[in-house]
Parts: sequence; C-alpha cells; structure tokens
Amino acid sequence: MAEIIDGKAVAAKITEEIKQKVQTLTKKPTLAVILVGSDAASEIYVKNKEKKAKEIGFNSKTYRLDENTSENELRDLIISLNEDENVSGILLQLPLPKHLNGKDFIELIDPKKDVDGFHPINMGKLLTNSSPNAVSCTPKGVMRLLEEYNISLEGKLAVVIGRSNMVGKPLSVLLGQKNATVICAHSKTKDLEKITSQADIILSATGKSGLIKKNFVKSGAVVIDIGISRDKDGKISGDVDFSDIEPIASYITPVPGGVGPMTIAMLMENTLELYLKNAKL
Ligand code: NAP
Repeated sequence: MAEIIDGKAVAAKITEEIKQKVQTLTKKPTLAVILVGSDAASEIYVKNKEKKAKEIGFNSKTYRLDENTSENELRDLIISLNEDENVSGILLQLPLPKHLNGKDFIELIDPKKDVDGFHPINMGKLLTNSSPNAVSCTPKGVMRLLEEYNISLEGKLAVVIGRSNMVGKPLSVLLGQKNATVICAHSKTKDLEKITSQADIILSATGKSGLIKKNFVKSGAVVIDIGISRDKDGKISGDVDFSDIEPIASYITPVPGGVGPMTIAMLMENTLELYLKNAKL
C-alpha cells in the first residue's frame, strides 16, 4: 500500500509559516490578480487565490475585466500594475478569451513581478540555472512535496507526462536539476505504458482522467498526479486511477488534496519572495 502524500497538510504548514513572516512586516505584500471574462474554472481558482492571500495577510487586489476587454485596456492595466510600487506580484489568470493572446500579455508583465514565473526571462533563467525571480507554482509545489517526503531523485528515472510551458516543461527542468534522468512524454509519445512502467517516478499532467492505470506503473514507483478534470457534475478527478495504483505504488498523491493545494501555497510563497526581493524596505 502506498503512503499518501498529503499536499493539503504540507500546504497548510507552508501557509502558516508565510503568515507568521507576514505578521512581522510593517508594509504588506500586494498580489494583483487579473481575470478576463467568466470562465467558470478560472473564477473558482481566482476566488481561492484571493481567499488564501487575505488569510495570510497580503493585500489582494482582483481586477475582473469584461469578456470583451480590448488589447489596449489589458495592456494599460498591466503597465499600470508594473509601475505601481505597492504591487509585489501580478498574476494574469489563463486562459484569456480567444481574441487576446496570453503569451503577448505574459511578456508585458515586469519579470520582477511575474509571480507565476511564466515570463520568458524567468523561464530562460530557470533553464540556465540562473535564479529566476519566480518558479512556476505547480512544478515548484511538486518539487516541495517530494522534498517534504524525502523522496530522493538522484539517478532515478522520472517520466513527466505533459510538456506545457506551465507544468510539464518547467517540471522536467527542475527534476533534471535534482539529478533525475528525465523523460518528457506527450500526446504523440508512442507506447506510453512501456515507458512509464520503467519509471521510478511518474508525474502526470495531462488532464486526461484515469489515463494512468496499474499496468503503467511498476511496483514501488512514486506517482504524482497533477491533472485536474471535472465531470459534468463538477466532481474532480486526476490523471491517475487512484484505487488501481495505490496498492502497488510506494507514494501517491490524491486528487483533490495533493498537488492542488501546493500550487496555491507556492503562489503565496512567490508573492512574499518577490516582495522581499523588490520592496524598498
Ligand atoms: P495542457 O497545456 O493542456 O497540456 C497537457 C499536456 O498533456 C500536453 O503536453 C499534451 O501533449 C499532453 N497529453 C494530452 N493527452 C495526452 C495523452 N493521452 N498521453 C500523453 N500526453 C498527453 O495542460 P497543463 O496546463 O499542462 O495542465 C495539465 C493538467 O494539469 C490539467 O488537467 C490541468 O488542469 C492540471 N493542472 C493542475 C494544477 C494543480 O494545481 N494541480 C495546476 C496547473 C494545471 P501535447 O503537447 O502533445 O498536446
């Protein structure tokens, strides 16, 4: 039986530590969140981020923009937040409505305020081991969970499934920095099962519910489920068939309660870190 990696508990511990630090600050960090349109999942994520930021003692400002917001309006808002020295971190909730190109607007965010670590400068710094201002929250949260559970990576075969800029790519880099041997699989990978069944660690970020079944996993492997899928009743599931795999894995993350809470905790940590790096204290 696998040990369940309790992301909720680890995230609560980290959040409490951040809260304690924030209490010692005379001026509080400010997280600015921009939500364009009315995507239901994005609305939930933004509300959760707002709630956590307030609970920690940050100033949280959410800018809810209309679905039809023009490129100029969004550009002007980002520029004004870049210039506002009270703002420590800027988060642009993705996806944007179709007429707005997410990449263009991420590049407009000041890399020093890029709390998600998505700006090409921060991505490039991550790739070249040169201290990014912030590291993408979900991959950072996964790495922290592995560290908390003393799961060693050196020399291990890690298979990351998914190659997005937000999750799969940065996660593959971070695992490599910890001396894992990394394979990054994707939708065109042939015979995924043959590859994952050799892995010491499987990290799945596809959003395909139940993709990873027992025959994909060798006995004793660590299984990290990053995927989130919602069925028509709003019930959440991950990429991993939990009940099938839990008896044979050594460690496994549940969905919900695994990686998800860590993503928010890392967003809070990034906000505090950017504030401490950039504030005129
Ligand atoms: P994404 O941009 O849609 O990327 C999905 C990746 O999965 C792509 O690289 C895709 O390959 C690959 N893929 C899709 N179907 C596959 C299959 N059958 N076999 C192998 N690879 C497959 O999504 P994302 O932003 O990376 O997010 C991935 C999942 O993580 C989503 O479910 C998302 O909701 C979840 N997520 C969770 C958290 C959290 O806090 N837990 C945070 C962020 C994201 P191609 O590149 O070939 O298309």
